[in-house]
Amino acid sequence: MNDPRFSETPLNGCSGCRRDFASLRAFDAHRVGEHSLDFPEHEAGRRCLDVEEMPEWLKDSRGRWTTQTLKARADRFSQHHQGAALESLDATEAA
Ligand SMILES: [Zn+2]
Repeated sequence: MNDPRFSETPLNGCSGCRRDFASLRAFDAHRVGEHSLDFPEHEAGRRCLDVEEMPEWLKDSRGRWTTQTLKARADRFSQHHQGAALESLDATEAA
């Protein structure tokens, strides 16, 4: 995908606010309101959160938005995976 609205190919790019998100979960977390209602015609309509409304949010090393909670979870996950890869490597060497 080559979208000129983004400087590099977005992972989970939002066409509403032009932000890119580290995960689909992070993307979903910045969208609020009723799917069936249009914003700003309806105040409760579907829209993107403003940065001021997202106190827990931060940009990861690739400039993608995520939350502290989601980032901590992702870091634990990748550490777990690195550990698993090393374990299986050890098992291969031992065999
Ligand atoms: Zn958005």
